[in-house]
Amino acid sequence: MAREVTIEIYADTRQTGQCRACHATLQWAVVVKSGARLPFTNDTFAVLSKRIEEETGRIVERADRRTNHWATCPGRDLFRGGSE
Ligand SMILES: [Zn+2]
Repeated sequence: MAREVTIEIYADTRQTGQCRACHATLQWAVVVKSGARLPFTNDTFAVLSKRIEEETGRIVERADRRTNHWATCPGRDLFRGGSE
């Protein structure tokens, strides 16, 4: 089974922010499937396609899953362990 490389997010939940660890500009968005709020790296984030969710009329955007900021953040170790 192929691993999914794209992820669907709600366009109306997108918000610009900044990473506390590396100060990169982020795009926050709520994931359709899980309802979780995830940060994407603004520099690499791109909307691959859009669709309208039938039940709600909300715009759903499809993005590359690999632009998830936690996967690439150079400062992500700051968020792990929690010993300090
Ligand atoms: Zn970061």
